[in-house]
Amino acid sequence: MNKLFAANWKMHKTRAEAATTASELARLCAAPPAGREVLLIPPFTALAETGAAIATADRFFLGAQNLYPADHGAFTGEISPAMLKDCGATFALAGHSERRHILGESDALVGEKTAFGLASGLKIILCVGETLDERKAGRLAEVIERQTRAGLSGVPVDVDPERICVAYEPVWAIGTGLVAGSAEIVEAHGLVRKLLEGIFGANGRLARILYGGSVKPGNASEIIGLDNVDGVLVGGASLKADEFSRIVLA
Ligand code: PEP
Repeated sequence: MNKLFAANWKMHKTRAEAATTASELARLCAAPPAGREVLLIPPFTALAETGAAIATADRFFLGAQNLYPADHGAFTGEISPAMLKDCGATFALAGHSERRHILGESDALVGEKTAFGLASGLKIILCVGETLDERKAGRLAEVIERQTRAGLSGVPVDVDPERICVAYEPVWAIGTGLVAGSAEIVEAHGLVRKLLEGIFGANGRLARILYGGSVKPGNASEIIGLDNVDGVLVGGASLKADEFSRIVLA
């Protein structure tokens, strides 16, 4: 299974800035090490330019930060999988913690997005993770199980598992500089793997599990080498091409 190095640019970068960063990354990572793939996830407005900048780059992919679970309709401000695919996206995030905690997305809506996005032909990265209060209260396993099961509840069990990623992103580690320790990452990813195997049987071993939360060039190689870590989802350290390339090449 190829390891996925995903760059979530959140609400950063104009079209020109995104194109410049993407071109620079394609140059710096012209040949990602064998078994590694790079995914760029710009704001919607920069999807087309980012896609154009990486069009000829080997093992580079384009993704969106969100989607709405309908083809079209009266959903002001939302965007459909068909529109994202039209801009060149082949991946989308569902349930990023900022959408759950700032924009109030429920487990049920995240599940609808995951199922609809997959049915529409996108690959989906379902994000799960506990808050600090939940961790302190010993609720890690419960939260991961609830979010994972709800997120995948509408997905057919015979789905191609290679089209699903689950990103374990402890909320307390996102954008804070705090990184989960190796043991914490292995524990959480083991829980996710067990859940995936429970839902998809042996195919659950083929879905990728990504870690996200203050990944940097200095900690990437240790994290990527841990059990059941099939890639990383990177926010802050993905904004500069030089810094993110050092994660991809770590
Ligand atoms: C993220 O946006 O998913 C993320 C993990 O952010 P950061 O790397 O900045 O913690």
